[in-house]
Amino acid sequence: MEYIGYLTSLRHEPSDPVNYYAEFNHTPVSLNQHLGEEIEIAFLDEKACCHCGRKIKKTYNNGYCYKCLIQLPENDLCIVKPELCHYHKGTCRDSRFGDRHCMQPHIVYLALSSDVKVGITRKTNMLKRWIDQGAVRAIPFLEVPARKTAGEIEVYLARFIKDKTNWRKMLKNETADHDLFQIKADLLDQLPSEYKKYLIEEPELHEFRYPHITTPEKITSLSLDKQSVIKGKLTGIKAQYLILDTGVFHVRKHTGYKVAFRL
Ligand SMILES: [Zn+2]
Repeated sequence: MEYIGYLTSLRHEPSDPVNYYAEFNHTPVSLNQHLGEEIEIAFLDEKACCHCGRKIKKTYNNGYCYKCLIQLPENDLCIVKPELCHYHKGTCRDSRFGDRHCMQPHIVYLALSSDVKVGITRKTNMLKRWIDQGAVRAIPFLEVPARKTAGEIEVYLARFIKDKTNWRKMLKNETADHDLFQIKADLLDQLPSEYKKYLIEEPELHEFRYPHITTPEKITSLSLDKQSVIKGKLTGIKAQYLILDTGVFHVRKHTGYKVAFRL
């Protein structure tokens, strides 16, 4: 089959293993069933902003045009540095977005994707977030009323624990073996008392398995900016990556690229 359209992030369902879909013109294309088969992604030399649809030469922040980069609230600095949330100053780029996205219950979580890391996410977005990062295990740690507080706690905890994933290790399934509940207990001792009221007492452990037939030994990054056709045998899907026997393709990074997707 051939699908023509603009790439968007992979969709997924938290089944066992995680069920992945690509989406073209709002049509979901199931990917798991194509493991072991040759796939091809051919760049059609056209890019469009994922928000406003304008044709562009270059995308910013995974799929946006420059205007949307500097104007949209989802591209503000406080999205990557939530402790800098400025909603309370009345300067949010779009307070309706802030109400919906930031002034909502947030979770500070511990997840294992390569090593253990701390992260934050909107409560209703938890499973999606973990799968997008390729976590194999995760627990919610604290629940706070809004994004800014979650960001402040994350910055504090990042003194003791990583807040980034080593994506190469994540893709090679090189996952450190840690007891998340033990780490939670240790971090709780470090936590300033003002935050302890947010503790989730008995969190559920979430575990994820990802579709794969082999594990890549070395990771070569494939980019449509460097080669116009990417092809290979699909050997796995994890986080936002299609893992081929020829290298790994980060789908989200190519949001807005018009392609012919053949499988
Ligand atoms: Zn735009």
